[in-house]
Amino acid sequence: MLGLMQSQPLLISSLIEFAERHHGDGEIVSRRVEGDIHRYTYRDLAARSRQLANALDKEGLAFSDRVATLAWNGYRHMEMYFGVSGSGRVLHTVNPRLHPEQIAWIVNHAEDQVLCFDMSFLPLVQAVHAKCPTVKKWVALCDADKLPADTGIPGLISYEAWIAPQSSEYAWPQFDENTASSMCYTSGTTGNPKAALYSHRSTTLHAYAAALPDVMCLSARDAVLPVVPMFHVNAWGIPYSAALTGCKLVYPGPAMDGKSIYELIEAEKVTYAAGVPTVWQMMLGHMKPAGLKFSTLRRTVIGGSACPPAMIAAFQDDFGVEVLHAWGMTEMSPLGTLCTLKNKQLDLPKDEQMKIRQKQGRAIFGVDMKIVDGNGSELPWDGKTYGDLLVRGPWILETYYKGESPLIEDAQGRGWFPTGDVATIDANGFMQITDRSKDVIKSGGEWISSIDIENIAMAHPAVAMAACIGMPHPKWDERPIVAITLKQGAEVTREELLQFFEGKTAKWQIPDDVVFVEAIPLGATGKMLKTRLREQLKDYRLPGL
Ligand code: ADP
Repeated sequence: MLGLMQSQPLLISSLIEFAERHHGDGEIVSRRVEGDIHRYTYRDLAARSRQLANALDKEGLAFSDRVATLAWNGYRHMEMYFGVSGSGRVLHTVNPRLHPEQIAWIVNHAEDQVLCFDMSFLPLVQAVHAKCPTVKKWVALCDADKLPADTGIPGLISYEAWIAPQSSEYAWPQFDENTASSMCYTSGTTGNPKAALYSHRSTTLHAYAAALPDVMCLSARDAVLPVVPMFHVNAWGIPYSAALTGCKLVYPGPAMDGKSIYELIEAEKVTYAAGVPTVWQMMLGHMKPAGLKFSTLRRTVIGGSACPPAMIAAFQDDFGVEVLHAWGMTEMSPLGTLCTLKNKQLDLPKDEQMKIRQKQGRAIFGVDMKIVDGNGSELPWDGKTYGDLLVRGPWILETYYKGESPLIEDAQGRGWFPTGDVATIDANGFMQITDRSKDVIKSGGEWISSIDIENIAMAHPAVAMAACIGMPHPKWDERPIVAITLKQGAEVTREELLQFFEGKTAKWQIPDDVVFVEAIPLGATGKMLKTRLREQLKDYRLPGL
């Protein structure tokens, strides 16, 4: 017997309709590429998203055609989130930090028909447009009078000129909630990038889950600053959850430096921010020497790579900001776990709580997770045993776009997505990433977590960034070394740093060497690129070898 309730498809257009009706005057503030601050409301956003949908119809785009963006976080990008997906097309957010060759490869692979870009990326588009034959319309996300006369890009039009003649009346079509809504390519640290193709259903369910109190806890009382880019995994789904909750949104545009972000947080009374650790590193680096404090910021969600405990402590103790450590992947829309304490943990001593906060956190309802050994047998949740982390759920990838399914079947025939991460899970369900499986250091048959080593190094006051990698060793197989960048003006010797590890980890896990480097290579999403670091250090030899 079926239930007798209404069956309405979960569609992205319903989010913007809701925001317009219930939070019509809710503010969306954006720093623009031009440098000025732009303000409007959810009502304006909804009307302009409909104009965009009409422009796409006029262009003759078919259902499920791909529309690409090369854009910062801002209101026009958000209009594309709703106008493109809402009208049944697929929004393809391209990461502008990728190599131009990779961008051309991705655009061709996705067969994008329209590509809309911020003016910061004009030189990039000029370099790649001839290699993108599927794109029949190039749109610059700017006012008509900001478009240079001769760009060399055929038929280039400004976004404002493109949508201006269009009506703001548009009836969002109704269709199957499993229809594709948007896509995002992984950064492709190994081989060509692969695409996750999200659906209206997966995106809407993820938007609900992300807003929950033990997840991102978003509400109509918040002012939210997503520093995490809209070009990578939909800014962790915040634009959708924002429409669902009606929170004020503050977009940083291209100005991602510590000073600009801090000023925006203060000026717009931001209560909640989200970003990867490297962004916050820059902001704290700007604030600490100047003795600056936050007036309104209360919580920040940090993920994408391990958040060093020193950063959690700095936010909490120096600035009164609660850090929510989060873990996820492009293939997971991206949220998988979030670290918030349980009721029974609130009375624990501070250092005990800190140990929990360092973990990547508890699974969100909708994400089923387990750790397994090399034979696929499930391992215990004791906080010590580590294994390959597998996940399943309605916003987790089943098959790559034009690719294969990476799923592993269990005895019941259910498919699990192998995350490529190695993790422990404790008795309270808190998951902790030990490493990416390819970064874990294998020494004398035991594993050393590069994240643990980096976290210790980062707690040293002179260290700005630390990357731990394994180096080949004839006896132990591999031994860890740690590459370090120093804070401006700070000094520390190799010996002092090695001594700093004493008593903080088992003796055999202490790195064999410290290598001081100018910079640690970062990938397109701000994560450390250990493959490149290994290349840079290919002539390095461990001491004594
Ligand atoms: P890519 O960088 O290849 O595009 P994603 O951006 O999807 O991939 O990154 C997913 C990976 O990032 C995870 O599998 C994990 O290794 C790492 N990661 C994400 N969040 C965290 C975190 N809080 N702590 C440690 N690692 C993390």
